[in-house]
Amino acid sequence: MIPLSHAVARRKLLQWFASAGLGPAIGSKLVADEVGAAKGARELQPTPVEDRPHYPAFLRDGQVIQPERPLPVFRETDVLVVGGGAAGFAAAVSAARAGVKTMLVERYGYLGGLWTGGIVLVVISTHATQNGDLTQVVRGIGGDLMDRLAKVQPGIVNYEPGKHNPTSDPEATKFMMDQMITEAGVDIAFHCWATDVIMEGNTIRGVVFDSKAGRQAILAKVVIDTTGDGDIFAAAGAEHEQRLHAIGLVHRIGNVDRVDKDKLAQAGLKQMGSIEPLPSVRWVNLRGPSTNGLDIAELTRLEIEHRKAIWERVQKIRATPGGEDVYLMQVAPQLGVRTTRLLAGTHQLTYQESREPRTFPDTVAIGGAQNGKHAGWPIPYGVLLPKKLDGLLTAGRSSCVDEKLVEDMRLIASCLTTGHAAGAAAALAVKDNCTPRDVDIAKLQALLKEQGAYLG
Ligand SMILES: Cc1cc2nc3c(=O)[nH]c(=O)nc-3n(C[C@H](O)[C@H](O)[C@H](O)COP(=O)(O)OP(=O)(O)OC[C@H]3O[C@@H](n4cnc5c(N)ncnc54)[C@H](O)[C@@H]3O)c2cc1C
Repeated sequence: MIPLSHAVARRKLLQWFASAGLGPAIGSKLVADEVGAAKGARELQPTPVEDRPHYPAFLRDGQVIQPERPLPVFRETDVLVVGGGAAGFAAAVSAARAGVKTMLVERYGYLGGLWTGGIVLVVISTHATQNGDLTQVVRGIGGDLMDRLAKVQPGIVNYEPGKHNPTSDPEATKFMMDQMITEAGVDIAFHCWATDVIMEGNTIRGVVFDSKAGRQAILAKVVIDTTGDGDIFAAAGAEHEQRLHAIGLVHRIGNVDRVDKDKLAQAGLKQMGSIEPLPSVRWVNLRGPSTNGLDIAELTRLEIEHRKAIWERVQKIRATPGGEDVYLMQVAPQLGVRTTRLLAGTHQLTYQESREPRTFPDTVAIGGAQNGKHAGWPIPYGVLLPKKLDGLLTAGRSSCVDEKLVEDMRLIASCLTTGHAAGAAAALAVKDNCTPRDVDIAKLQALLKEQGAYLG
């Protein structure tokens, strides 16, 4: 054991190194292995057992009853973003950059949602053909993120002008999102699963969440539901619809530079997967059956069945002459749920509207074209705004579109731009002391442009 005075001096020295950018912060010590690693003065010291009141559920007449109980308020904030996927990330950065107190809660331990945890990686529809020119429509927060990824290795491929479907490295994306969100001053809480809402009449006043520290509340002036599945607007009783969609599981295979393509082709194995920033690694999508992404039994069944199919596919490649060196590098830690709940917004944007030349007075983002070839489609603010409830917005894959436009709206690009719009709108509502329904659209569009967004 290091004597305490030495330990304090060492900690101070390391703190100084960290603040000078010369080494890892305390607690981020990289170790070669676990043997003999617990030498630090703080490790394994006893800490007081948390003393919190208990309100266990109980059985009454065969029913499980949850008793009434006061909840500790974890934070009070201006804007609360629930869910840190592409949409939630952009919303939180936008709101914080606009100067309001912003908090983000995320059930997992990283940002990016399906993009990073679902290993989706390929950012389709970043561009559209505007007035005859191929134009980048994902700018602002999403553009900033991709620009930063383009400056690191391995960060993003196919992001150069004229190329399609930029594909980012999941770890670089998570890291860069952490950087941007902390730089913006967002108060972030990982490992917190929002489970309920706090209502005052027709207005949402915050959320209830569960974590290892028990059940707590966060109060907010505006809440943005970017859970992807509309967990918050559904709990608040907002009108919405629910859809089935294909549920898949993405995986990555390694050592693809070592395969003998000709031999594999002779055996009928032509496609290894798509290119991604890591050398010798390929990304493999899996579509899966169309089913209910809110059904626990289905989610469990598909995790097991998809993982089996992936394992067997890679074993088959390895058993084929020419593919012996390929290995299964990673199966996405998050199941690929494409669509579940869609908000009933004040404007349901239809596929037809998106393919006709038009604009809306409340355009807050421009959707891209999957092949870059058609024009960008204006996205009105109404797709983010519930019909009746106040204090609440959504963005990303749960936005209000018709069945056919889901396929465009759920792409990462549209999630980034609608998230950006929701964050800016929430910030403006806080600043102007009004509900998101009443924000001044001209001011919102001006704020979005100031933050670099492309509105056509
Ligand atoms: C298999 C598959 C392949 C795809 N391929 C492509 C592709 O090639 N290109 C493309 O552009 N798009 C693709 N997509 C679509 C795209 O990846 C997603 O639609 C998009 O990333 C969704 O972003 P989001 O922020 O709206 O939601 P999500 O990424 O789902 O983010 C929601 C976040 O909220 C968190 N969360 C959820 N519930 C709670 C809660 N109750 N409390 C706290 N946190 C919560 C989640 O952990 C997550 O971080 C694909 C999707 C799938 C499933």
